[in-house]
Amino acid sequence: MNNDPKSLFLGSHCGLSGPEYYLGTVKEALSYNSGSFMFYTGAPQNTKRTPLNQLRIEEGRALIKEAGLDESKIVIHCAYIINLANKENTDIYELGKRFLSQEIKRAAAFHVKSIVFHPGSHLKHGVEYGLESLIEAFDEVLQNDDTDVKIAVETMAGKGSEMGTDFSQIAYLLTHVKRKDKLGVCLDTCHINDAGYDVNDVDGVLSEFDKIIGLNNLLVLHVNDSKNPIGAHKDRHENIGYGHIGFQTLSKYIHHPLLVNVPKILETPYFEGKAPYKKEIEMLSSGVFEPDWRDHL
Ligand code: FE
Ligand code: FE
Ligand code: ZN
Repeated sequence: MNNDPKSLFLGSHCGLSGPEYYLGTVKEALSYNSGSFMFYTGAPQNTKRTPLNQLRIEEGRALIKEAGLDESKIVIHCAYIINLANKENTDIYELGKRFLSQEIKRAAAFHVKSIVFHPGSHLKHGVEYGLESLIEAFDEVLQNDDTDVKIAVETMAGKGSEMGTDFSQIAYLLTHVKRKDKLGVCLDTCHINDAGYDVNDVDGVLSEFDKIIGLNNLLVLHVNDSKNPIGAHKDRHENIGYGHIGFQTLSKYIHHPLLVNVPKILETPYFEGKAPYKKEIEMLSSGVFEPDWRDHL
């Protein structure tokens, strides 16, 4: 079994804050022995962003190189307040398009290739309206894009009128945008569990994903346990082995031969103020679970 987080591209969400900014992000990832990581370019709940020239990007990149991480597996998560699934709310829709195109430019400045993107909520207008709103927005934002950055549309849990709760919706987006070269997918284990997929049937999930979306379009895997049973439509992440999915299943995703090249990112909650990632990465890469591990953080 490959138990090196570096060649598994296994890592976690990390922060980006002053004074070290990206240099600090990379240091945090390395402190967990990560083989990859994901970060927000600023606070996820707003669209204010520190200018790129203050983010110490080149120092962070130098440390990535020195540590031997594959820069092409690093991921940005787009701010989740933007909603491009409801074009009727023009203020939010226009702001969202502007923010997404700036986010693509920022990702390019970080030399990051994938931006995880929540497809948003249709807000009582129905799934078809949501899909049309998203496609119009993608077509406008991406038409003249000359970066090598891709949007990884995330599978969602189905809270309220959330979009992206089944593979066919996401496949529709991928096949109906004009720039088919710019869209891919982020599969989140907690979200598909909550959306109603039998996440424990790993081969079944991956073969359905392949049939409907195509595994070649899978850009990122989010590795989370879930506080809720299958189909709960809740979206509450749990630490590895403490939720309804369990360690064995999550470990299967980490080591699955079809997912070798996919970056695998933990977004599990802190426990009593402490980051769980070092331990979770150690257990998932070795395949050995330590019961009650949170008590010894
Ligand atoms: Fe997300
Ligand atoms: Fe996620
Ligand atoms: Zn989530």
